[in-house]
Amino acid sequence: MAEQRWIPETLFDDLGFRMTFAVEKVLYEQQTDHHHLVLFEQRHFGKVLMLDGATQVTTKDEFIYHEMMTHVPILAHGAAREVLIVGGGDCGIAEEVLKHKSVKRLTQVEIDASVVEFSKEHFPEFTGPVLADKRFDLIIDDGMNYVAKTDRRFDGIIIDSTDPQGPGAVLFTYEFYAACKRCMGESGIMVTQNGVPFLQPDELISSVGHFRKLFADGSCYVAAIPTYIGGHMAMGWAADDPASRALPVAILAERYAAAGKFPTRYWTPEVHRAAFALPRFIAEIVEKARAG
Ligand code: SAM
Repeated sequence: MAEQRWIPETLFDDLGFRMTFAVEKVLYEQQTDHHHLVLFEQRHFGKVLMLDGATQVTTKDEFIYHEMMTHVPILAHGAAREVLIVGGGDCGIAEEVLKHKSVKRLTQVEIDASVVEFSKEHFPEFTGPVLADKRFDLIIDDGMNYVAKTDRRFDGIIIDSTDPQGPGAVLFTYEFYAACKRCMGESGIMVTQNGVPFLQPDELISSVGHFRKLFADGSCYVAAIPTYIGGHMAMGWAADDPASRALPVAILAERYAAAGKFPTRYWTPEVHRAAFALPRFIAEIVEKARAG
C-alpha cells in the first residue's frame, strides 16, 4: 500500500504554522520561469493549485474569493465598462467579471504564461467561457510594466496576485498603486488580494497606507476562505468616492437585478454591505495604516 503523500503550504513557515493536504493524485508539477507550480487532487477540496508553496485556488472554495473580488467593486461602481485584472492566472476572476453585461472590455495582465496554459487543461470551467468571450484580452507581462505604460483608463482594477514575494512583491508597492491610480477613471475602484490579517497584518497596513496617500478612501473588506488559512481574508479597497464603499443594500440589490441576477454562491447584497464592517482587531490594523 503506497504511503499517503501530504503536501504542505509553506507560506507561514516563519510563523511555525502549516496547513497540509493529503494528496489523492498529483496532476501536474513544474518549475516555470516564475514559480514552482503544483496541482493535485484532494478528496475534500477537489483540485488544489499551489504556487511557491502558497495555495492559490481550489475547486471547492474558489467561489468565495472570486465572487467577492469581482462583484463588490463592479456593483459598487455601478457602470463599470473597462476592467483590468493584474495576475489572475487561473481565470477564475475573469469568469466572474464577464458575468456583468455592463463590462465592455476585460484585460488580464499575467506575468506567467504557463499558469494560463496549464489552466486551459486543468480549470476549463474558468478558461473555457473566458477565452471564448470576445470582450476578453490576455497580455503576458509584469503588471507593473503594464500599468506604468498603458494609456487606457479603467473603471475597475482587480489585483489577483500571489503574495508579496518573488514576482508578486512589486504588486504591493507604492509605485505600483500610484501607477494603477494613473490609469483609473474618475470614479474608478481598485481591489487587491491582501492576505490574512491575523497572520499577515503588516501586508495590510502597508497597502492601506499607500492607498490613503493616493486615494480619498483606502480600507479593506473581508471574507472567510477555508483554504486561505488563518481566519478572515482581507481584500484591499481604494477609491476616490468614499460613498461607493457604503452603498445601501437596496441599491446593491437594484444593481444586481439590473446586471441580470446571475447565480452566486457567496455574494449577496447583504454580504457585500457586511463585508466592510470590520472586526475590531482588523479595524485596528487598518487604523495603524492611518498613523503611518
Ligand atoms: N487568488 C490567488 C491568491 O489569492 O493567492 C491568486 C491567484 S492567481 C494564480 C495569481 C497570479 O498572479 C499568478 O498566476 C502569478 O503568475 C501572477 N503574478 C504574480 N506576480 C505578477 C506580476 N508582477 N504581474 C502579473 N502577474 C503576476
